[in-house]
This record gives sequence, structure tokens and C-alpha cells, in this order.
Amino acid sequence: MRTPLRQPRIAIIGAGMSGICLGALLTDAGIEDFTLYEKASSAGGTWRENSYPGIACDVPSRFYQYTFARNPDWSRPMAPGAEINAYFAKVARDTGVHDRIQYGAEVARIDWVDGRWSVTTTAGASAAYDFVISATGILHHPRYPDLDGLDTFAGPAFHSARWDHAVPLEGRRIGVIGTGSTGAQIVTDLAGSSAELVVFQRTPHWVMQMRNPEFSRLTRWLHRRFPRYDALTYHGSRLFIESFSSALLRPGLARRFGQWLIRRQLRRIEDPTLRARLTPDFEPMCRRLIISTGYYDAVQRDDVRVVTEAIDQVEPTGVRTADGVLHECDVLVLATGFDSHAYLRPAAMTGPGGLTLDDAWADGPRAYRTIAVPGFPNFFMFMGPNSPVGNYSLVAIAEAQASAMLAWIERWRRREVDTVAPTTEATDAFYRDVDAAMPATVWATGCTSWYVGQGGRVELFPWAPKRFRSMLAAIDDDAFETTTPA
Ligand code: NAP
Repeated sequence: MRTPLRQPRIAIIGAGMSGICLGALLTDAGIEDFTLYEKASSAGGTWRENSYPGIACDVPSRFYQYTFARNPDWSRPMAPGAEINAYFAKVARDTGVHDRIQYGAEVARIDWVDGRWSVTTTAGASAAYDFVISATGILHHPRYPDLDGLDTFAGPAFHSARWDHAVPLEGRRIGVIGTGSTGAQIVTDLAGSSAELVVFQRTPHWVMQMRNPEFSRLTRWLHRRFPRYDALTYHGSRLFIESFSSALLRPGLARRFGQWLIRRQLRRIEDPTLRARLTPDFEPMCRRLIISTGYYDAVQRDDVRVVTEAIDQVEPTGVRTADGVLHECDVLVLATGFDSHAYLRPAAMTGPGGLTLDDAWADGPRAYRTIAVPGFPNFFMFMGPNSPVGNYSLVAIAEAQASAMLAWIERWRRREVDTVAPTTEATDAFYRDVDAAMPATVWATGCTSWYVGQGGRVELFPWAPKRFRSMLAAIDDDAFETTTPA
């Protein structure tokens, strides 16, 4: 007689795209006893938190979706943020994951107690689990600029991820600090509706401008009617992005050609002085490439002014730059990015023997093949250090990571393992390979960005996305320390 499968208790921290992905796969595998801890009052992660004007996905939506829940009804090649948020909410409902989410439950501590994880919320509620999965997202801690006088600004000032929709914008002078992917989307959207848009650029970024027209009714019908065609377009988009990412990753003709195409975009700027001010001094793709529907058009409008002088201080009526000019603004938007190196923190994690995650990461965050940390059994993370997050689809990354986690959870159910954690040797060997491969990548060609962490270490995957999938699909037993049930 076959031994019945064990039912694990699993805590997933975060009900964003990654948490919903794992929840759906667990449900499909017949694993019911899991809880998603969500600090907010609704799911969706980054797509819930970011509601700024112009928010859209800059990865084709056909590829920015789960393979197990494809949406034939995307309105555009790169769907607006609200539509993406609604998609994840729908998947959570359709798969039953929604019923497993505890809202308003922020995790404060995760402690290894008597061979299991104890998860404690900021409200003091604790529960024990066999596995803990971090699905906290990579870009969710807003980074506020350290600008003198910011708190003296008399008008509304808010971070792009904390958009205050009660503030009217029409006919007002709006200052936007930051010109990354977020700033570019905001500027493109607001240009023309405000009295003046003042864009404070510290560093120019490379921009690829492309159209994003609505899909026709016929196209949507074809996707609904022919699921195989829909699947084909998923893989077509995947192949396009993968070829693009792989070509630009390493030196060679393909990278030079791709970079030439990106550089040519600057020809859209007619005024040579403005073009010079918008020309980056680092290689295209070294920072995340900005995909925009109209940034270069927006900055050439009469009502948009790009300021490239350094900001000296913020004053009650505006922003003063180093040349002494005061740029008067009624509203200040801080599109200044996120702390991408926090991972699970500020939640505190203490593993067996009192080892804390902060101690384990004293020299910078490291994870075996992006998902597991030596010394922390039955703990896996989404979008961990060195995940291939560049311009790739985070949904595809999450699916690959979820499958690898699920493989270990299934082994636990079959009683083949009780605890599992990667060895230090395997993790060191992984990082020797990462460190050897990184210098040849485009990210190491001399720029700063949110890709770069402690000690100048690039926290991205230095190989092609295809290798990421095969690497996670083939996890090597020797790389893990396991115990078996008594
Ligand atoms: P970001 O790329 O980190 O850009 C932050 C911007 O703020 C930069 O231009 C930065 O200047 C500027 N900045 C920061 N501190 C400043 C200061 N003290 N004074 C002046 N300028 C300052 O952040 P993001 O634009 O929010 O984008 C982050 C990531 O989110 C993107 O790379 C992307 O992965 C993701 N995202 C995705 C989408 C999507 O459609 N999928 C949309 C938006 C964002 P420097 O360049 O000089 O540092």
C-alpha cells in the first residue's frame, strides 16, 4: 500500500504576482494548507501600489502573464497597470488563492522553532509552518531622495508609488524628480494636461520609444477563439524578448547592432542641445532600458522643460538648482525609485542555531540559484539575489522559481525529505560562476543603477534567460543538505 502524502503547512509572504503564482500551483497540486500574508488590504503587489498616471507594463503583456492562466483579452501590446492589476486579482479569485490571503497581516519575524518556522505578524499573531516562501517583490520599498528642504515644500509632494489621486493636476505646475522607467511614463502621460511639467533629470537614460495601439476587436476575438494561436503569441513574445536580452547581454556584433538601434532613437530629439543633454554616457542596456510610448515626444513639447542642473534644495515654492534658479512648482512627484536590495527585510528572520538573515547576508545578499539560502531550511524566495530581472518578464521568472520550489515541496509530501537547504559549498560555487560571468555582461560596462548592490556587485543573472529556466528545472541533489523524516 502506498504511504499517503503528507500535507505541508506553507506561509507565503506577499500576495503579489509571485505569491499568487505559487498559490495557484499549490492549489493545482492539491496542497490546500497555505496562507498568504499580505500587509495591504488587497492583492496585486507592485500593480496595486503603483497607480501613477501613465502606468503600463513595458514588457509585452502576452508574455507578462502566467502560462497557466493566459488572458486573450489584453487591450494593448503593453497593457495599462490597472488592467494588469485586475488580471492578477482575477487569477487569485479563479484559482481560489484569494481565499487563502490574510489581509492587513504584515510579517514582523520568522523564527526557526523546534524544527518548523514560526511566522509572527506585527500585530503579534504567530503560527507554525513547514515551509516559508518569500514573495515580497523586488521594487516595493520607495526610495525617497535625500534633498535639503524637501519637507518644507508647501504643496503636495509624494512618491510615484504613493500617488495621491486627490490632488488635482490639471492646469498646475508639476515637478517630476527622476527620469527612470516610472518618471518617463509619468511625464509622457502628464505632458499636455498640466500648465507646466518640469522634469528634473540627474542622469539621462536610454529610451526606446514604441507605439502601443489598442488591439482590434478581431485580434481579441482570434485570441479568444483560438487558444493555440494565443499560446503561439505568448511564445513568440518570449522568443523576441529572450533573443533581445541574450543578444545585448554579451559583447559582440548582436550587442553592437542592438545598441546602435537604441542610440538611433535619440534622433527623435530635434534640438541638438536638448539631444546632448538627454544623451547618456554609459552603454545602452547597462541600466534598464526605458520602453516608452512617447517620452522623447513629451520632452520636446513647449509645456515640458527638462532641467539638468543638479538640485540644490527644495523650497516652499519649488526646487532650486545649483545655478541658483528657482523652478516654481505646485506639486512635486518623486519618481526616485526603490530600494531593490531589501528583499524580505524589514521582516527579521532567524534560522536554526540563531543565524539571522542579516548575519548570513553581512557581505551582501546571496542565494543558491536565486531561490534558497544556506542555513535556512525549507525557505525559498522569489526574485532573490541574481534573478534575471533586467527587461525580462518577472512573471516568467516567478513561474520557473515556483516550479523549483514545488519540486522540493512534493518531495517533502512523499516523505523523501523533512528539511532542505542549499549547502554553502554549492552556493559559493554558484557565485564563483556568477562572478566569473558578470564582467562580460552589459550591466558591468560602467554605470550605476538599482541593479548594483553592496560592494558594487551586480545582482542580476549573468546568463541568458533560457539558462535560468534550465538551471532551475535541473536542481542538483548534491547542492542541498536534507534531513529525512524519523
Ligand atoms: P529608477 O529606475 O531607480 O529611477 C529613479 C530615478 O530617480 C533616476 O532617474 C534617478 O536618478 C532619480 N533620482 C533618485 N534620487 C534622486 C535624487 N536625490 N535627485 C535627483 N534624482 C534622483 O526607478 P523607477 O523609474 O521607479 O524604476 C525602477 C524600476 O521599476 C524600473 O527599472 C523597472 O524595472 C520597474 N518599472 C517597470 C515598469 C514597467 O512598465 N514594467 C514601469 C516603471 C518601473 P539617477 O539616474 O541619477 O540615479
